Amino acid sequence: MPIASLQIPVEIPPVDIWSYYLEQPKHYPGDKPLFVDCDTGRSHSFNDIKRLALEFGKGLRHVFNWQRGDVMGLFTPNNIDVPVVNFAIHWAGGIASPANPTYTPEDLAQQLKDSGAKALLTQKMFLQAARKAAALAGLPEDRILLMGDGRDETGVHRHWSDITAQGAKVQPQKANIDPRKDLAYLVYSSGTTGLPKGVMLSHQNIVAQAVQGEKQGDIKGLLWEVDAQLGVLPFFHIYGLVVVLATTIATGVKCVVLPKFDLEKACKLIQDHHITFMYVPPPIVLALGKHPVISKYDLSSLRWINSAAAPLSRELAVSVWDRLKIGVKQGYGLSETSPGVMIQLAEEWWKYQGSVGRLYPNMEAKIVDEDGKELGYDKSGELLLKGPNVFSGYWKRPELNKETFTEDGWYRTGDIFYCCPKGNFYITDRKKELIKYKGFQVPPAELEAKLIGRDDIADVCVIGVWDKEQHTEIPRAYVVLKPGVEETEAKATEITEWLNAKVAPSKKLRGGVRFIKEVPKSQAGKILRRVLRDQVKKEEEAE
Ligand code: AMP
Repeated sequence: MPIASLQIPVEIPPVDIWSYYLEQPKHYPGDKPLFVDCDTGRSHSFNDIKRLALEFGKGLRHVFNWQRGDVMGLFTPNNIDVPVVNFAIHWAGGIASPANPTYTPEDLAQQLKDSGAKALLTQKMFLQAARKAAALAGLPEDRILLMGDGRDETGVHRHWSDITAQGAKVQPQKANIDPRKDLAYLVYSSGTTGLPKGVMLSHQNIVAQAVQGEKQGDIKGLLWEVDAQLGVLPFFHIYGLVVVLATTIATGVKCVVLPKFDLEKACKLIQDHHITFMYVPPPIVLALGKHPVISKYDLSSLRWINSAAAPLSRELAVSVWDRLKIGVKQGYGLSETSPGVMIQLAEEWWKYQGSVGRLYPNMEAKIVDEDGKELGYDKSGELLLKGPNVFSGYWKRPELNKETFTEDGWYRTGDIFYCCPKGNFYITDRKKELIKYKGFQVPPAELEAKLIGRDDIADVCVIGVWDKEQHTEIPRAYVVLKPGVEETEAKATEITEWLNAKVAPSKKLRGGVRFIKEVPKSQAGKILRRVLRDQVKKEEEAE
């Protein structure tokens, strides 16, 4: 029997994102600052967001003849304009496809090409990389638009707010959207194997996730008059894009937006803005638990923290409690599930330490063995999921989609879990090849494709190894050199530095290069990463 959520099922309104967030009555004042820039204090209230998004949406329709299904690339760090431009794209019937602004032009070009983006929104600081990527993807220069504070003096790359005036005469008629079929976001994930691909998230997926999230006790209890969160999670990743933005608009709590994480700055903002909760990845929990700078600030306003996106040990959660008396709840999710699947409640994290909590409402899970046979409580196997927030498949990958879902519609997560009889889930391992560096995806296939292009490498396999100090996985390459090439430390360093210069900072080979004689493979030629991972574990245990 599948494991059903223990929460009362929620009703999911059959509406698009715009209608759900911007057309329902709100219980907080419309002119209250919602998203606040941490440096300039510039802010957008609910009324601002709605008005500006409508104006930009009309501008998009007028200037670019924006149509239902057109894709807009986003290449920007966190900024208070992000919610505005997302709503505008949705109003015009478009799909937003965010990318990490530290990606190389090649990475971004790949996403622009694959998604078929019609235009790209970026910030002045990232214009150079955006232009290179657009050129590689065949996107004309005047399709690159700016957001945030900087302007382009040449006038080639218009600011989104300049486009708003041009749409003044467009009828304020939102695109006719089918919430179940029309996509709202195309976020990129490597899924269980290979290179990044577009995760198709419909309006209905996102609205479902918003309703599921709002029914969680901790969100229900937030008060717009007192609560405030730090917008530190990147808005280009599903966790920030949906969870942080949704919580802010649904509850009316202030979100202080940080473009880039800086520990000391974050502490000061928590102190000055009386931040009461935040969503973070585990490295920030590590800093709160161990870093000396924390003691310089008064963080007593913080009530709870939610950690997700990568493993968090119980020791780390306890260290934060011991030091600051702040409860660290864990959650679990994926790009493919919009993202939230499980979450701990504030009053429960202590009781079930190490768990990622219980299923969100309207979700069902199964834990299965290698043959797809369902396992009972307390037995580890692959987690399969069903629910209204589960994506419909990868963009233009019909063959892959057949493998991603079982015949009866269960999504195979590639993560290894067990569930206790009380309905608390524990993630123990990953079956898929994905590596996560501080919550950022590192697809091994991407690094391997680059390394194999070198003249001195015969074969290669990249796996994630655990860095205890930084509390994160880091990628390491196991390399078979071509005959006659010497296995030296200098060669390992040369390969590492060569690759590091070609990839985004999060994808660097922080675990270095190790030489092996042969990459372990199955008879069918599939890399057996598990063999290398087990070997690393043994080495660690022996240390
Ligand atoms: P992404 O699509 O980038 O959000 O990555 C999703 C993957 O992150 C999952 O499939 C897990 O492997 C991993 N992940 C998410 N939350 C957790 C967590 N709480 N603990 C361990 N791994 C996690």
